[in-house]
Amino acid sequence: MPYIIPNKNCNRCDKCRPQCPTGAIKIENNEYWIDPCLCNNCEGYYPEPQCVIACPTQSPIPWQAKKGRCKVEVRESTSLDLFSNGKNHPFASAIVIWEACNILAQRKSLHWAQDGEGNLYYSRQVNQGRGNISFAIQDSSKSGFVRDLSTIENLDIRAACIHLIFAAYATTLERPWEQEFTIDERQIEAYLGLEKRKDLNKTTRLCLIKSIVQQVCSLVVSIGWQARGKVPAFSVQKSYLWDLTDIEHHFQEDERGCKYLIGLTFKVKAGLWSRHFLNKQGCKESLAFYQYGSLPKTLLTTVMSLWQQHEGAVRLMLWLLFKTKMGREQRITVPTLLRVGYGEEKIHLASRSRDERKRLLRTFENDLEVLNHYGIKVIFDPVTYPVEIQPLWAKLVDIPEDPDEALEFWINDGSGEHRLTDSSPRGKWNMLMNARILSFELPSDWENVTPQPHRKQHRSVKGKRSVKPHDDLLGEQVLQARKAISISQRELAKLAGKSQSWIRDVENGRLKPKSEDQLLLRRILNIL
Ligand code: SF4
Ligand code: SF4
Repeated sequence: MPYIIPNKNCNRCDKCRPQCPTGAIKIENNEYWIDPCLCNNCEGYYPEPQCVIACPTQSPIPWQAKKGRCKVEVRESTSLDLFSNGKNHPFASAIVIWEACNILAQRKSLHWAQDGEGNLYYSRQVNQGRGNISFAIQDSSKSGFVRDLSTIENLDIRAACIHLIFAAYATTLERPWEQEFTIDERQIEAYLGLEKRKDLNKTTRLCLIKSIVQQVCSLVVSIGWQARGKVPAFSVQKSYLWDLTDIEHHFQEDERGCKYLIGLTFKVKAGLWSRHFLNKQGCKESLAFYQYGSLPKTLLTTVMSLWQQHEGAVRLMLWLLFKTKMGREQRITVPTLLRVGYGEEKIHLASRSRDERKRLLRTFENDLEVLNHYGIKVIFDPVTYPVEIQPLWAKLVDIPEDPDEALEFWINDGSGEHRLTDSSPRGKWNMLMNARILSFELPSDWENVTPQPHRKQHRSVKGKRSVKPHDDLLGEQVLQARKAISISQRELAKLAGKSQSWIRDVENGRLKPKSEDQLLLRRILNIL
């Protein structure tokens, strides 16, 4: 329980402030207040609250419910709300944003190096090896950079959500490197689904929001970029990723003059990276990029509800947000997914210890199931990730609901080479090290909603394959073509990396496959 100061007893002598070991005592409009996010009753520092000992009027008192009528301050208006369609919003998806999201999600799992002064930095090559991007983290005193890996490990993965929200706000501005956006705790609570969390009181929610906003705004980025296409070379030196220009604290004041924190407003400006990667006018003149994707609101709420129990699934989700939006092919190897979800060190441990291996695989398979549950459907590559090494939950999806079909399924299963209930084969780990996920089918609210003209600009990347349009593939065509080459629904499902029920639904017209799945079926069944 933090302390509070009734201003009616306080003579503003300022004796308490220098004694506070956590810097919790603040002055606002010549009145004293104690930041409940910082006050810890001096625990871990002194046996007694130092502000009480220092105060000649014994003013600071343990936190108490407000007394009498309360004055509430008028708040300034904020930037407009995101997610006006209730589903998704454009967000800046440039490499800088992607890498910062990786840092917040993967933290110590990334390779951090130390510069000559001992400051930690994370660096990687970009722009096909012709450029470099590096990040450092400003320490809490703002006078230097973090040198201790434990600070990086203590970054909160939920800060990645704030980072993505800021990246969405940046797309609402014409010149984000010059303009600020203003966002308050009520908006953040709504985006993150925190307003529904009855287990967290208002103060706890405010402290969480303030902490993760500050973490995001402590990232400092440097970029060296060689000319690409017509876009000239540029460099950015130690610039804030997000510049937190102001935090306004909002209070309710009771009849004793105690100021209770009830709200926060943040003023934020995108760093100089946005001049080069989120510059509409510059993009038109081929002097800069304008790169964005679509941020699904459900991603934010899902991360907020899963981060504690399924951190690996959360890391994979955040990674997929960029992976699937950057136009790359989705043949993702299992080692890549393990690295993203759990880090290099855990894979290394698993490769040497049977128990670690079992533990990691169990977690990985559970996390894939979690993704599947949240609408990110995992499509296993039937060649490298065959049924016998797939997780049990994935095999159970194939069981038909119809009792007769289910009976046929189990008869087929019993007569097959591998049974559904067979235990994992020996050497499963080694097989998985060469296995691939063919693709992740994303929920509809993950699809790009960016306006068409912008989409054109974003997608004008060289080397993208053009796809010749076909008429929609009909279920009847699939059925005929499958029968023509005498393969069962189950065999076709294996070849396509789909479930048998998916093939059945396509054939009887209950499901219209996505265009990429239609192409896949055309290829397998030789339909022109
Ligand atoms: S109780 Fe301790 S930590 Fe809290 S405001 Fe007073 S001096 Fe600071
Ligand atoms: S709380 Fe006490 S010590 Fe602090 S300014 Fe007021 S009177 Fe002075």
